[in-house]
Amino acid sequence: MELNDIVRRCEDLYHDLDLTSVKEWKRRTGGKAVGFLPIYVPRETVHAAGALPVGIMGAGDDLEIIRGDAFYQSYICHIPRSTVELGLSGRLDCLDGFLFPAICDVIRNLSGMWKILFPDKYVRYLDVPQNFDERLGGVFYRQELAALFQDLCALTGRPASDEALRRSIEAYNENRRAIAELYRLRAEEPHRVPTYEHYLLMRASNVLEVTEHTALVDAYLAAARRENRPWRDNIRVILTGVFCEQPPLGLIRALEQSGCSIVDDDWVLGARYLREPVAAEGDPLDALVTSYLRRGTPTATRYIDEDAKGEDLIRRVRTLRAEGVIFASPSFCDPALLEAPMLQRALGAEKIPYTAFKFSENSGQLQVIKEQTGAFADSIKLWGAA
Ligand code: SF4
Repeated sequence: MELNDIVRRCEDLYHDLDLTSVKEWKRRTGGKAVGFLPIYVPRETVHAAGALPVGIMGAGDDLEIIRGDAFYQSYICHIPRSTVELGLSGRLDCLDGFLFPAICDVIRNLSGMWKILFPDKYVRYLDVPQNFDERLGGVFYRQELAALFQDLCALTGRPASDEALRRSIEAYNENRRAIAELYRLRAEEPHRVPTYEHYLLMRASNVLEVTEHTALVDAYLAAARRENRPWRDNIRVILTGVFCEQPPLGLIRALEQSGCSIVDDDWVLGARYLREPVAAEGDPLDALVTSYLRRGTPTATRYIDEDAKGEDLIRRVRTLRAEGVIFASPSFCDPALLEAPMLQRALGAEKIPYTAFKFSENSGQLQVIKEQTGAFADSIKLWGAA
């Protein structure tokens, strides 16, 4: 498959707010589809139940919000408004269920609204532990996963089979392998994997069946390695804060155009929330629980002792030879905005440059941000620090 064809397919999927590809999958397989909001749900349970997990990350700047605004006060983030708008306009009708993972009050409230708005659909608020002791958080989370898996199997009419779960774990392990390779290639040779393409490929993981997405990423990797692209005199940065509401596509492109090559990020984080392969032997729910407790990505919505805040970010800066960090926080996003000062303090202590801005998924004024990140890149190039 040619590079341009892959990128065009990802662009089509990104802009497909009507979820045409999901409807086609359902028609082809006769299966159900289950939506989920960021950051992380164990998609293996959905897949093993015979359903298609579908990640919903708002509507970017592709949809005018008319009714969604009526459900929320003005001083919260944008993603729940566009999600409500997508739901009320019928664009999510093909989803037979919806999972709302516990990351903040907004998502919690949205799960309640969804139950009221769509009483005929399966809706589950997925509580995840903030205690990482196997005997406490582990036991709790296993109960949650077992109940979720039973529910999903009841929805699809499939038996709740450990063997099916193990096969799904293997399929997602393969996907984690491909995504890790994608991140590795971009970090090693950023000019081969433009940010815009990288982002679109990650977004495609929201709607494609996992083996199809793995094949697409592998095809992209092969094509990107073949392509003779010019080296760019950009600084190497890590982008953080975009784990839930996503910046508009134009903003993602603008960051690179301003002289910043993103060598790591936290967008579409659910697709690589578990940092290592999940054990495909033994009890599959235990394996998912252990991976969540032991190998989950440190992020704003995951409890971590104050002293350790920033350790992971600094380690990634060093390992990836990043020259700076960009904090991109959705406006009014409590988790991102509460975490940023702690991370910035840790970076400051290590004299690692950073800059910060806020956005919303339909931000139109990209020029100001582009100038800010451009000045950040220039200052690092000229003086080695912002
Ligand atoms: S953008 Fe932030 S505040 Fe809004 S739903 Fe996501 S995590 Fe919650």
